[in-house]
Amino acid sequence: MDFKADDSGDVVKARADLDRAGSELERLRIDLDRLSLVCRAMYSLLQESAGLTEQDLLRRVDEIDGQDGQLNGRVRAAVQPCPECGRACGARQRHCLYCQHPLERLSAFD
Ligand SMILES: [Zn+2]
Repeated sequence: MDFKADDSGDVVKARADLDRAGSELERLRIDLDRLSLVCRAMYSLLQESAGLTEQDLLRRVDEIDGQDGQLNGRVRAAVQPCPECGRACGARQRHCLYCQHPLERLSAFD
């Protein structure tokens, strides 16, 4: 196989990108573990203080999961129309992508 003069630089860059992606993935796994731990602790406190059961939690998870029309274990961010131009904007956007009009924050989770 023939290599161009800049191939070795591309390989070095690709390896560096791969290392960065691996580090980022590891950081995200640690963040996810921490988030899962905090959720379990919060639910444990709710069980003790409000007498909730695991079935109560599972029913609520399904309820919230289904709010976007799909029971797929994921929550889709809501879409809102821009009050200025009417185009669809994601709930996480703080300004309309089309006209830059400021958007109201509709949910603490988006
Ligand atoms: Zn707009």
